[in-house]
Amino acid sequence: MRAVLSIGSNMQDRVEHLKSVFAEFQDEIVASSSVYSTPPWGDTDQDEFYNAIIIVEVDQTPLDLLHRGQALEKAADRVRERHWGPRTLDVDIVEIEGFSSDTQELTVPHPHAAERGFVLIPWLAADVHATLGGKPVAGIIGNIPQEDIAGIKVLGRIEKL
Ligand code: ATP
Ligand code: CA
Ligand code: CA
Repeated sequence: MRAVLSIGSNMQDRVEHLKSVFAEFQDEIVASSSVYSTPPWGDTDQDEFYNAIIIVEVDQTPLDLLHRGQALEKAADRVRERHWGPRTLDVDIVEIEGFSSDTQELTVPHPHAAERGFVLIPWLAADVHATLGGKPVAGIIGNIPQEDIAGIKVLGRIEKL
Protein backbone atom coordinates (compact mmCIF):
# COMPACT_ATOMS: atom_id res chain seq x y z
CA MET A 1 0.00 0.00 0.00
CA ARG A 2 1.25 3.45 -0.90
CA ALA A 3 0.78 6.24 1.65
CA VAL A 4 1.66 9.90 1.99
CA LEU A 5 2.94 10.99 5.40
CA SER A 6 3.20 14.59 6.59
CA ILE A 7 5.75 14.94 9.37
CA GLY A 8 6.43 17.98 11.52
CA SER A 9 8.36 19.13 14.56
CA ASN A 10 8.70 22.46 16.38
CA MET A 11 10.32 21.50 19.66
CA GLN A 12 13.86 20.55 20.67
CA ASP A 13 16.05 19.23 17.84
CA ARG A 14 13.57 19.42 14.97
CA VAL A 15 15.90 17.84 12.42
CA GLU A 16 16.63 14.88 14.70
CA HIS A 17 12.92 14.28 15.24
CA LEU A 18 12.24 14.29 11.50
CA LYS A 19 15.26 12.05 10.93
CA SER A 20 13.74 9.40 13.17
CA VAL A 21 10.89 9.03 10.67
CA PHE A 22 13.20 8.89 7.64
CA ALA A 23 15.20 6.21 9.47
CA GLU A 24 12.13 4.15 10.42
CA PHE A 25 10.91 4.05 6.81
CA GLN A 26 14.28 4.05 5.08
CA ASP A 27 13.65 0.89 3.04
CA GLU A 28 10.05 1.83 2.23
CA ILE A 29 10.44 5.42 1.01
CA VAL A 30 9.38 5.92 -2.60
CA ALA A 31 9.87 9.69 -2.63
CA SER A 32 10.38 12.47 -0.13
CA SER A 33 10.50 16.25 -0.05
CA SER A 34 13.15 18.53 1.30
CA VAL A 35 12.58 19.88 4.79
CA TYR A 36 10.65 23.16 4.92
CA SER A 37 10.46 25.80 7.61
CA THR A 38 6.80 26.75 8.05
CA PRO A 39 4.94 29.21 10.27
CA PRO A 40 2.69 27.56 12.87
CA TRP A 41 -0.83 26.87 11.58
CA GLY A 42 -4.06 27.08 13.61
CA ASP A 43 -2.27 28.20 16.78
CA THR A 44 0.27 30.84 15.83
CA ASP A 45 1.76 31.42 19.30
CA GLN A 46 4.60 28.91 18.98
CA ASP A 47 7.89 28.32 17.17
CA GLU A 48 8.24 27.62 13.45
CA PHE A 49 7.79 24.05 12.35
CA TYR A 50 10.06 21.94 10.23
CA ASN A 51 7.91 19.90 7.86
CA ALA A 52 8.41 17.30 5.17
CA ILE A 53 6.45 14.79 3.13
CA ILE A 54 7.43 11.14 2.86
CA ILE A 55 5.74 8.82 0.38
CA VAL A 56 6.05 5.21 1.50
CA GLU A 57 5.20 1.81 0.09
CA VAL A 58 4.43 -0.42 3.06
CA ASP A 59 3.25 -3.98 3.40
CA GLN A 60 0.80 -3.36 6.24
CA THR A 61 -2.71 -2.13 7.01
CA PRO A 62 -3.61 1.56 7.34
CA LEU A 63 -4.12 1.19 11.10
CA ASP A 64 -0.78 -0.54 11.50
CA LEU A 65 0.85 2.35 9.65
CA LEU A 66 -0.96 4.85 11.92
CA HIS A 67 0.32 3.00 14.98
CA ARG A 68 3.84 2.98 13.58
CA GLY A 69 3.70 6.77 13.29
CA GLN A 70 2.32 7.05 16.81
CA ALA A 71 5.17 4.89 18.13
CA LEU A 72 7.62 7.36 16.57
CA GLU A 73 5.78 10.27 18.25
CA LYS A 74 6.02 8.43 21.55
CA ALA A 75 9.71 7.73 21.04
CA ALA A 76 10.18 11.49 20.57
CA ASP A 77 8.59 11.96 24.02
CA ARG A 78 5.69 13.79 22.52
CA VAL A 79 3.46 15.40 25.13
CA ARG A 80 0.09 16.83 24.15
CA GLU A 81 -0.36 20.20 25.81
CA ARG A 82 -2.91 21.96 23.64
CA HIS A 83 -4.72 21.35 20.37
CA TRP A 84 -2.48 22.21 17.42
CA GLY A 85 0.14 23.28 19.96
CA PRO A 86 3.93 22.70 20.03
CA ARG A 87 5.14 19.15 19.61
CA THR A 88 8.37 17.22 19.24
CA LEU A 89 7.00 15.13 16.41
CA ASP A 90 3.74 14.81 14.50
CA VAL A 91 3.22 12.03 11.96
CA ASP A 92 -0.02 12.36 9.98
CA ILE A 93 -1.31 10.13 7.21
CA VAL A 94 -2.37 12.53 4.46
CA GLU A 95 -3.50 10.00 1.89
CA ILE A 96 -3.47 6.29 1.13
CA GLU A 97 -3.81 5.17 -2.46
CA GLY A 98 -7.17 3.47 -3.10
CA PHE A 99 -8.30 3.78 0.53
CA SER A 100 -10.47 6.11 2.55
CA SER A 101 -11.59 6.06 6.17
CA ASP A 102 -13.82 8.33 8.23
CA THR A 103 -13.39 7.29 11.83
CA GLN A 104 -12.02 9.35 14.71
CA GLU A 105 -9.00 7.10 14.93
CA LEU A 106 -8.19 7.37 11.24
CA THR A 107 -9.58 9.92 8.79
CA VAL A 108 -8.04 9.56 5.32
CA PRO A 109 -7.61 11.64 3.25
CA HIS A 110 -6.59 13.95 6.07
CA PRO A 111 -9.48 16.44 6.53
CA HIS A 112 -7.26 19.54 6.71
CA ALA A 113 -4.71 18.68 4.03
CA ALA A 114 -6.34 20.83 1.36
CA GLU A 115 -6.02 23.98 3.51
CA ARG A 116 -2.40 23.47 4.53
CA GLY A 117 0.43 24.90 2.50
CA PHE A 118 2.92 23.12 4.76
CA VAL A 119 1.45 19.82 3.52
CA LEU A 120 0.71 20.62 -0.13
CA ILE A 121 3.92 22.46 -1.03
CA PRO A 122 6.31 19.70 0.08
CA TRP A 123 3.92 17.07 -1.30
CA LEU A 124 3.95 18.64 -4.76
CA ALA A 125 7.74 18.87 -4.54
CA ALA A 126 7.94 15.13 -3.77
CA ASP A 127 5.39 14.16 -6.44
CA VAL A 128 4.42 16.55 -9.21
CA HIS A 129 1.43 14.30 -10.09
CA ALA A 130 0.04 14.16 -6.54
CA THR A 131 -3.75 14.17 -6.20
CA LEU A 132 -5.91 14.71 -3.13
CA GLY A 133 -9.48 13.42 -3.29
CA GLY A 134 -9.03 13.01 -7.05
CA LYS A 135 -7.88 16.62 -7.63
CA PRO A 136 -4.35 17.60 -8.58
CA VAL A 137 -2.45 19.07 -5.65
CA ALA A 138 -0.90 21.52 -8.11
CA GLY A 139 -4.39 23.04 -8.54
CA ILE A 140 -5.47 22.90 -4.89
CA ILE A 141 -2.41 24.95 -3.89
CA GLY A 142 -3.86 27.84 -5.92
CA ASN A 143 -6.72 28.11 -3.38
CA ILE A 144 -4.42 28.73 -0.42
CA PRO A 145 -4.10 32.43 0.49
CA GLN A 146 -0.78 33.96 -0.55
CA GLU A 147 -0.07 35.09 3.02
CA ASP A 148 -0.21 31.45 4.15
CA ILE A 149 2.35 30.45 1.52
CA ALA A 150 4.70 33.41 1.99
CA GLY A 151 6.34 32.10 5.17
CA ILE A 152 7.08 28.61 3.84
CA LYS A 153 10.78 28.24 3.04
CA VAL A 154 12.77 25.29 1.78
CA LEU A 155 15.72 24.42 4.04
CA GLY A 156 17.25 21.46 2.22
CA ARG A 157 17.41 17.69 2.07
CA ILE A 158 17.23 16.02 5.48
CA GLU A 159 20.65 14.40 5.06
CA LYS A 160 22.27 17.83 4.60
CA LEU A 161 20.71 19.43 7.69
P1 ATP B 1 -4.48 17.46 12.82
O1 ATP B 1 -4.98 16.05 12.64
O2 ATP B 1 -5.52 18.52 12.57
O3 ATP B 1 -3.21 17.72 12.07
P2 ATP B 1 -3.02 16.90 15.22
O4 ATP B 1 -2.04 16.26 14.29
O5 ATP B 1 -2.50 17.91 16.18
O6 ATP B 1 -4.19 17.60 14.38
P3 ATP B 1 -3.09 14.68 16.94
O7 ATP B 1 -3.23 15.06 18.38
O8 ATP B 1 -1.70 14.38 16.47
O9 ATP B 1 -3.78 15.78 16.03
O10 ATP B 1 -3.95 13.38 16.61
C1 ATP B 1 -5.15 13.11 17.28
C2 ATP B 1 -5.73 11.80 16.74
O11 ATP B 1 -5.98 11.89 15.34
C3 ATP B 1 -4.85 10.58 16.85
O12 ATP B 1 -5.13 9.91 18.04
C4 ATP B 1 -5.22 9.73 15.62
O13 ATP B 1 -5.80 8.51 15.96
C5 ATP B 1 -6.21 10.59 14.89
N1 ATP B 1 -6.13 10.59 13.43
C6 ATP B 1 -7.23 10.56 12.62
N2 ATP B 1 -6.88 10.59 11.34
C7 ATP B 1 -5.51 10.63 11.30
C8 ATP B 1 -4.57 10.66 10.24
N3 ATP B 1 -4.98 10.68 8.96
N4 ATP B 1 -3.27 10.69 10.56
C9 ATP B 1 -2.86 10.69 11.86
N5 ATP B 1 -3.72 10.65 12.93
C10 ATP B 1 -5.03 10.63 12.64
CA1 CA C 1 -1.10 17.18 12.37
CA1 CA D 1 -1.24 14.11 14.26
